[in-house]
Amino acid sequence: MKKILVFGAGGFIGHHLVTRLKNDGHWVCGVDLKYPEFSTTAADDFVLGDLSLLETYDKIPVVDFDELYQLAADMGGAEYIFTGINDAKIMHNSSLINLNSAKFCISKKIKKVFFSSSACVYPMHNQLDPCNPICTEDSAYPANPDSEYGWEKIFSERMYLSYARNYGLNVRIARYHNIYGPEGTFQGGKEKAPAAICRKVLTSDDVIEIFGTGNQTRSFLYIDDCIDGTLALMNSEYNNPINIGSDEMVSISDLVDIVLSIGEKKCAKRYITGPVGVMGRCSDNYLCKKEIGWSPVISLRDGLIKTYNWITTQLVK
Ligand code: NAD
Repeated sequence: MKKILVFGAGGFIGHHLVTRLKNDGHWVCGVDLKYPEFSTTAADDFVLGDLSLLETYDKIPVVDFDELYQLAADMGGAEYIFTGINDAKIMHNSSLINLNSAKFCISKKIKKVFFSSSACVYPMHNQLDPCNPICTEDSAYPANPDSEYGWEKIFSERMYLSYARNYGLNVRIARYHNIYGPEGTFQGGKEKAPAAICRKVLTSDDVIEIFGTGNQTRSFLYIDDCIDGTLALMNSEYNNPINIGSDEMVSISDLVDIVLSIGEKKCAKRYITGPVGVMGRCSDNYLCKKEIGWSPVISLRDGLIKTYNWITTQLVK
């Protein structure tokens, strides 16, 4: 049994991770500004607090932690990240959380830290062609992310790696690609495309509105695969940034068609102006197969069925 800290344990991925770590028999303490939204945390201890403030770290129980999973970040879907209106907040809050977390690991002698980076670190100029996006790990440099959210992630990757070089911190860095599934935000502006589309299909009988041309491509990773990939990385010896994503690429317009077929609906699609991000993005999984022996196993359609069914139950509440 390990003693494990999870920052961001009230969020989507952090909550699922806590559940899995508890099922695997570990002692887990979560920290977040809030409790999980849709079900009770399985954590043994849960500290409510702001990780951008040093005083929060004093509230964490004095335990010999083996691992920290750092998932707390100021984030959201396209409307939150790509409109520019939250840029200062995103950079300020998330940088402070990561700066404080790295220092906390050294001062408390935490043996290993996991940092949740993002596909948003990849350069804009490699993601202009929807059919051929380049997202190999080494293509992140020269850096040119299309959002301040991506710049903060690339800064924090480098910050953790510098702690590894200078203080011997054992770091694992995942570049997550669009994680989705049950218990993810599905309304309010911070939701991601799969949840937003499921909600729109469930609540509309005539027209589904899509940001941009609908030709932009993405890949989406189901939450259970994300947790498996996260643990595979943490338990591996690989200590450079690595993609944790799906390589099943789909256009947003086709994603809508899949959800329409799941819901057995025949709505029209209307393309409207809105934040779209890069034109193409898809996880390159060569390195994660080779280095950590992990690949996703849940198809996009199967993951969307589970997500659609869960959002259905939420909407009738
Ligand atoms: P989420 O928003 O559901 O969870 C993040 C959690 O961090 C939230 O519960 C929030 O309350 C908490 N938080 C924010 N600021 C805080 C603060 N100052 N102090 C304490 N807690 C704070 O997001 P998620 O989807 O679970 O993502 C987890 C991590 O993975 C994030 O770092 C995110 O950037 C990264 N990531 C996620 C995706 C994705 O598709 N979900 C993709 C790439 C990277």
